[in-house]
Amino acid sequence: MKQITKAADLELAVKEAKNQNLEIGLVPTMGALHEGHLSLIERALKENDLVVVSLFVNPIQFNNKEDLEKYPRTIDADLELIKNLELRIKNSCSDKLLAFTPTVDEMYPQGEPKEVYHFGPVEEVMEGPRRPGHFSGVAVVVRRLFDLAQPKRAYFGEKDYQQIAVIRALLEQIKYPIELIPCPIVRADDGLALSSRNMRLSPEARAIAPTINATLEQAAEMAQYEDVDDVKEWVLDTLSTFHEVHDVKNGLKFEPEYFEIVDARTLQPIENWEAAGDLGAVGCIAVWLDGVRLIDIVKF
Ligand code: AMP
Repeated sequence: MKQITKAADLELAVKEAKNQNLEIGLVPTMGALHEGHLSLIERALKENDLVVVSLFVNPIQFNNKEDLEKYPRTIDADLELIKNLELRIKNSCSDKLLAFTPTVDEMYPQGEPKEVYHFGPVEEVMEGPRRPGHFSGVAVVVRRLFDLAQPKRAYFGEKDYQQIAVIRALLEQIKYPIELIPCPIVRADDGLALSSRNMRLSPEARAIAPTINATLEQAAEMAQYEDVDDVKEWVLDTLSTFHEVHDVKNGLKFEPEYFEIVDARTLQPIENWEAAGDLGAVGCIAVWLDGVRLIDIVKF
């Protein structure tokens, strides 16, 4: 692995790779890496000659200042994890991986970018209205990374399901011939979707967090014989009454912010299962647990 901190150095490395007709894969991350990120990197290494992993906490995608300040920054441990992944993969690929770790000034030398992106219906649901400016901020940084790394393929996790739809819409808008590769969620053994935010959970909260996935899995079973509305209501009820039903101490609460059952491509809510299009239906949830906001999905 080679660490690059300057945009100009990344451009140079990419130019050299292009001269050799190498195919480049891009994995954008905000660092605080875990096995979920590593699964994206591993897949990118399998499918490309050169992989650029960006580790950059992008301030303009945070609509909440406190969330930005509290976002874990663990760059040394991240680089170690990437090196260990290289060792774990049989055909050692130390010359195949570039870890791009720019500062905010390096990414945005002209100061905070003025560009604003709009994506229509896919951003008007779920995370969109609750995190104003978030997806535009994501689009700005991802486009900048596309410009610098010029990838053939870009890897994104299905945990951030709406983000994938937004990037798909971005690619249509800017007409870059980049293949978007959605990757499955990696979970802890107890089912909790891995997330950099999990490290902010207290031990008590971490112990009950797997209930999110367990509830979604049960919802997938129910979907075989219940209506969309009933499944939706059941999930929201189950999580919002969890702390009472299970007599959870310490005032810990699940507070579901939303649970929507949507068409997996358009992200628009569906009223019945038959209304889902070619990608089927997906349930997307955001939950507050002990002051930490967690998201997850289930495919129906
Ligand atoms: P983040 O650093 O949280 O912005 O995530 C960087 C990329 O890793 C995004 O495409 C995420 O969707 C993906 N990702 C995060 N958590 C997981 C996970 N548990 N499984 C698979 N991909 C993930």
